[in-house]
Amino acid sequence: MTRILLIYTGGTIGMFQNPQTGALENFDFNNVLIHIPELRQFNLHLDSTTFEPPIDSSDMDPEQWSKLVRIISDNYEQYDGFVVLHGTDTMAFTASALSFMLEGLSKPVVLTGSQVPIGTLRTDGKENLITAIEIASSKHADGSPMVPEVCILFHDKLIRGNRATKTSADQFDAFKSFNYPLLARAAVEIEYNEEFILPYNPHAVLKPHFNMDTHMVIFSLFPGIQSSLVEKMLDTPELKGIILRSFGSGNAPQKKWLADALTRATQSGKVIVNITQCTGGSVVMQRYETGIQLLSTGVISGYDSTVEASITKLMFLFGEGLTPEEVRKKMNENLAGEITL
Ligand code: ASP
Repeated sequence: MTRILLIYTGGTIGMFQNPQTGALENFDFNNVLIHIPELRQFNLHLDSTTFEPPIDSSDMDPEQWSKLVRIISDNYEQYDGFVVLHGTDTMAFTASALSFMLEGLSKPVVLTGSQVPIGTLRTDGKENLITAIEIASSKHADGSPMVPEVCILFHDKLIRGNRATKTSADQFDAFKSFNYPLLARAAVEIEYNEEFILPYNPHAVLKPHFNMDTHMVIFSLFPGIQSSLVEKMLDTPELKGIILRSFGSGNAPQKKWLADALTRATQSGKVIVNITQCTGGSVVMQRYETGIQLLSTGVISGYDSTVEASITKLMFLFGEGLTPEEVRKKMNENLAGEITL
C-alpha cells in the first residue's frame, strides 16, 4: 500500500472556527481522518506529524526548513511521498529551499495550503489537500513516482517549487510560474506535463543538507536610488550575497557611484546576482549598455530565476561553506530545475 506522510507546519489551511468564540484556532492534524473523512476513500496509508507549535509562515526560517529536511530524510525510506501543509505567504521560499536542501530527491514532496481555513464552509483547503495527496501518491505503471521533485499544488496548478511565486493575497488561484510550464493541471483528471517533470532516477540517494547562510540581502533598484544608502549596504563587511533586482532584461542606472560600489563589493568577495524586477523573462546583461555596465562590475546573471529561488540558492551554497568563487560558479549551474540555461 502507498504510504504518505503529511507534515503540518501551520498556516491558514490548518485552522477552523471555534463555534463558541468565533476565533480561528489550529486544528489537530493527528485527527485529520476524523475531520476530513473523505481521505478514507484513498486506498493508501496516511500518517501525519505536526510542528509544535504550528507557525504562521511569516515565521518560517532556515531553522524550520532544516526541521522539515530532518523529518523528510528520517522518514524517507518508510514513505512513498510527502505532503507539506504550509502557510501561503512564504511557501515559495520553503519550496525553493527544500529543492536545494533535499539533494538526490527521487520522491514527491508536495507543498500546499489554503486561502480559507479548512474548517470553514467555503474552504479551498480540502480540495488542495486531497489533490496534493493524490499527486504525492501517483505512480507510473512501473511503480516509479509521477512527480519525483519538490512542487507546490495550489488551486488547479502543480508548479515546480523553485519556479513558484505567490501572486494573490485573496484569490484561490494564488500561485504562478512565469518562466516554466506547469507540471500538471488538476481538472476533471490530473493532467501531467510529463516532459517538464524532473526525470526519476532509481539510483539517486537522498543527501539532506541542513545549513543555510543568511548573510544576504535582496534589493530593488528604482529611479532616484540614493548612493549613500546603497554604498553603506554594499560595504557592510558581514554581507556575503546580494540579489539585485534590476530593470527589464537586467539593466541598471549608468551611475559611476553604483558601478564603483558594485565593483568594490564583488572584489571583496560578495556575490551579486542580477535578477529582473519583471515577473516573467530572463536577465540578458549583454542586451543594453545599461546591462553591460553591470557585467563589468562582476555582477553575475540570475537568468530567469525567481527571487525566492535565487536567494535560497545563495543561502544554500554559502551554507555549504563554498568560497565566493565556487558560489559564483554554482549560481551559473542549474541545480534543481530553478533556471533555464
Ligand atoms: N499568514 C498565513 C501564512 O502564510 C496565510 C496563509 O496560510 O495563507 O501562514
